[in-house]
Amino acid sequence: MSAPKKLFVKTYGCQMNVYDSERMVGALGTAGYEQVQDPAEADMILLNTCHIREKAAEKVYSELGRMRPLKDAKPDLKIGVAGCVAQAEGAEIMRRQPMVDLVVGPQAYHRLPAMEAKVQAGETALDTDFPEEDKFDHLPAPRGPKASRAPTAFLTVQEGCDKFCAFCVVPYTRGAEVSRPGARLLAEARDLVERGVADITLLGQNVNGYHGAGIDGDWTLARLIRELAKIDGLERIRYTTSHPNDMTDDLIDAHGEVEKLMPYLHLPVQSGSDAVLAGMNRRHTAEEYLRLIERIRAARPDIAMSGDFIVGFPGETEADFADTIALCEEVRYASAFSFKYSARPGTPAAGRTFVGDDVASERLGRLQALITDHQRSFQRAQVGKRMSLLVEKAGREPGQMIGKTPWLHAAHFDGPQTTQGNVVEVEIIGSNTNSLSARAI
Ligand code: SF4
Repeated sequence: MSAPKKLFVKTYGCQMNVYDSERMVGALGTAGYEQVQDPAEADMILLNTCHIREKAAEKVYSELGRMRPLKDAKPDLKIGVAGCVAQAEGAEIMRRQPMVDLVVGPQAYHRLPAMEAKVQAGETALDTDFPEEDKFDHLPAPRGPKASRAPTAFLTVQEGCDKFCAFCVVPYTRGAEVSRPGARLLAEARDLVERGVADITLLGQNVNGYHGAGIDGDWTLARLIRELAKIDGLERIRYTTSHPNDMTDDLIDAHGEVEKLMPYLHLPVQSGSDAVLAGMNRRHTAEEYLRLIERIRAARPDIAMSGDFIVGFPGETEADFADTIALCEEVRYASAFSFKYSARPGTPAAGRTFVGDDVASERLGRLQALITDHQRSFQRAQVGKRMSLLVEKAGREPGQMIGKTPWLHAAHFDGPQTTQGNVVEVEIIGSNTNSLSARAI
């Protein structure tokens, strides 16, 4: 038997990409590859890229430039670019960086083994088509627990987006919304649980728009969550990322009724100004978003909110930004991601006039200071509470274990290795910069 070839994958961006990387490792596993952590050992390097951050494509080209010495030292090394930048740039990547052998978009990962065979034959391989068939049919089962040895895993339930926010490339790079059949997802979730997973995060670009075929008509995300909650051994369910307009009554009810659905919700708003929200084509107002959060909190009073903000969107005035600050003050996010606006080629907002880097940077600084303040006080407020902890791994100190609270804080406590993968009851006894200290009860 020949020795396995070695694959190094570098993942940028969101949870969706982390999951996709695992799927690509699985797909190339069937072509004789095993994953390594050092690019210098690799026979193939895949960059799984994200288009959301500023100057995403340029950063990929710089990273490729840094790989030049590896390719020079090992001419047989194959280099591939996957993910949203691959989808958006296509053949341009090979034109600008001829050392790239393979460019694959998110809709074509199941074709990676055939593409790999092509590059081994000395050709280049490019596939950024949106195929007709369900790409999920062709990939090996998710490798979450084996790949990470953690009791947590991602499960993609939906891909693509039909919302067309004016700043976003997802509807163009990931295509229209597609939901996976409920029965298949239940089977995959059971399989994950059998392999030791206790915490599943359901993934989708617009996950709460989920509408997959169920046993009695299409299931909503709420129905899927209720069915998943019946699986013995599955302790925690989460989902990300959601659009406010798809927070239906049945999903809000599920937050109040399904104990396994964790009290933590990522619900991006992007701006607190109605004028900016309209310019972004978000199709809701700030007031509607705030009333929605009130309803969610009424259903699940201990729920923590997380969000996303874009600062300096074209046309944003100081008064608009003040509305964002006011919304943030009202919601008090447990955590939130915030970015300066940066134009994505091909999106409706790309031709509009940016407020300028200095203005956007200064506003971003103010918003981030506020978010950090709220985040820290939410974390400090955990001290003295009793809660469950899903133990994920050993800590840095001898005899120490680390787990996640229902609110996604990392907490460490003194406990035996045998607690790994289990849910234990703890009392939070301290709040540090990035984690909590706990004591097993
Ligand atoms: S809902 Fe999210 S993924 Fe869809 S277009 Fe808007 S920002 Fe992009």
